Amino acid sequence: MANIWYIQVNRYCNNQCHFCSNPSNGNNITYEKWVEIINDFVNRKYNGIVFTWWEPTLSPNLPKWIQYSTSVGMECRIISNGMMCSNIDYVKKLKNSWLSLIHFSLYSHIQKVHDFLTDTPGSYSKLLQSIQNALKLWIRVQLNCVINKYNQDHLDKTVRCIAKIFPQIQHFVWNNLDPLMMRKTDVALSTLPDFDIASRSLVEAMSFLERNDKTFRVERLPICFMKWFEWASTETRKIVKDEERIVHFLDDRIITRQLWKYWTHDKLEECKECDLSPICSGVYEREKYYNYVKVVPQKVTKQELENIILKIKS
Ligand code: SF4
Repeated sequence: MANIWYIQVNRYCNNQCHFCSNPSNGNNITYEKWVEIINDFVNRKYNGIVFTWWEPTLSPNLPKWIQYSTSVGMECRIISNGMMCSNIDYVKKLKNSWLSLIHFSLYSHIQKVHDFLTDTPGSYSKLLQSIQNALKLWIRVQLNCVINKYNQDHLDKTVRCIAKIFPQIQHFVWNNLDPLMMRKTDVALSTLPDFDIASRSLVEAMSFLERNDKTFRVERLPICFMKWFEWASTETRKIVKDEERIVHFLDDRIITRQLWKYWTHDKLEECKECDLSPICSGVYEREKYYNYVKVVPQKVTKQELENIILKIKS
């Protein structure tokens, strides 16, 4: 997928994740409206759709949308919390609509941590059942994980555990917590991660995955916290490859076109001394939420910088 389109098909959910970046507003999208939008994006030469936010499997039209999108040449995937797919009959419906890829959101291999973060007891067991169901039906599975205070010290242990249970899973995605739209409760605010602690277990996790020929991406984390794996930063890759994506929100933002400039967040005074600055997005939401983060200016040679760029382009 190069230029991809994220579409919110509904804004309600059967989990209550404390750090949810698109809390429920009850909005929905009709089948007719959706077909109108997809035809527009086919004309714009977009080639991929991600059905997301907040729980696309709660939309009864999802299988029909997937089937339509695939028939007009779009590669489809969904991002799901793994509650509905614990029912294998539902997964069969998705399979029959030609869905080939699901990203499930797993926050920890520790059941009580995952269930606490989703604020939904039993969600961990259902998610594991969902992964098993999807794999059984030959639907490719990738895992998404929000980096937060409660999993920051064991990101590596989680991937080791999952790779052992489900060796078929090849791709992992970490999103650093997005505090912008999340609920502002004390519990939600307590999930903001410590970047230094998260960085240690994340680098361990990425080393493990690389050694085991698996792939991964990291979003919304400054690359000074991803030493040796800067090339895996989603923002850095977008900056280097000059890619865009379109997000169709079910709120006031409606359609947002995210060009490479979107991927540049806040740079600090220290960033002026950093050799990686041209390919780094800086710190997301620094002024309001991540003002405690201490960035670490990097010293690299021109050749090392070029090597990162070449790795991304290759
Ligand atoms: S110091 Fe600034 S420019 Fe350098 S990697 Fe960190 S956030 Fe990016």
